[in-house]
Amino acid sequence: MSRRRLAAGAAAAVGITLWPGPPATAQTALDERQQHVATIVTGEIEKLTGPAGRNCGIYTLRRVDGPLPVGRREISGALRCVLAAQRRGQAAWAIWQVPDVDGILFDGLGASAVSAVHTVSGRGSNADVELAPCREPRVGKDLTIECANSRRLTPRDVAKTLKAVRRDIERTSGHAWADVVPTSPPAGQAGTPAEALAAQVTAAQRAVHASGDAQWPRCPHHFDHPLTYRDGWWYCERDAAFIAAAGRLSSVVPRVRRKR
Ligand SMILES: [Zn+2]
Repeated sequence: MSRRRLAAGAAAAVGITLWPGPPATAQTALDERQQHVATIVTGEIEKLTGPAGRNCGIYTLRRVDGPLPVGRREISGALRCVLAAQRRGQAAWAIWQVPDVDGILFDGLGASAVSAVHTVSGRGSNADVELAPCREPRVGKDLTIECANSRRLTPRDVAKTLKAVRRDIERTSGHAWADVVPTSPPAGQAGTPAEALAAQVTAAQRAVHASGDAQWPRCPHHFDHPLTYRDGWWYCERDAAFIAAAGRLSSVVPRVRRKR
């Protein structure tokens, strides 16, 4: 992504951006480093999201003594903007500078049109960027993004997810649930209801593979590997991305007729 595009995108966003910074004459080495890191971070995010025509903001810290522009208001606004884009079926991201001695750390959020929201952590000038799926994101007390990934499922959640997965299988694999789900629980199964559910879904997926469709459900980003089931979502292992919530697989994978 070129710097010019990045600056234009930022300007089109939420209004409180300090990009593209001071005129070239006042550009310091630190400004340049920050721009460089921001460019790398946004490039890494767009590997997940694809090009986002309009982003949700690049927030940088004001220099020297000014008030910090990156606060709850900006981060909450960025999160709302990403979630709203998702509801419209659009990719979106936002990044903000983490207050730090050299000011080149960026955190952020990104989501493709159908993936879960991912948190972004950029670390250091070589822009080590880590993206992690984040279910039900919200802004925590210390201005970090909190995720519900580790929330424990209730039996009711499990029943609901199972029904959703069943719908996915019947709409997109061509098999009836009864034909692919094991009649007795998979051997060696133990643990929580969520683990039992995952084992059941995985067994059903193996049965679909054994019937001749070894890529089901085919990843809509890469086309050469199947998605896997994880935490109530269909997941791309390669991008570490939650692609579609259980029950919504047919929004990213073609529907097929039931085989007889
Ligand atoms: Zn994939």
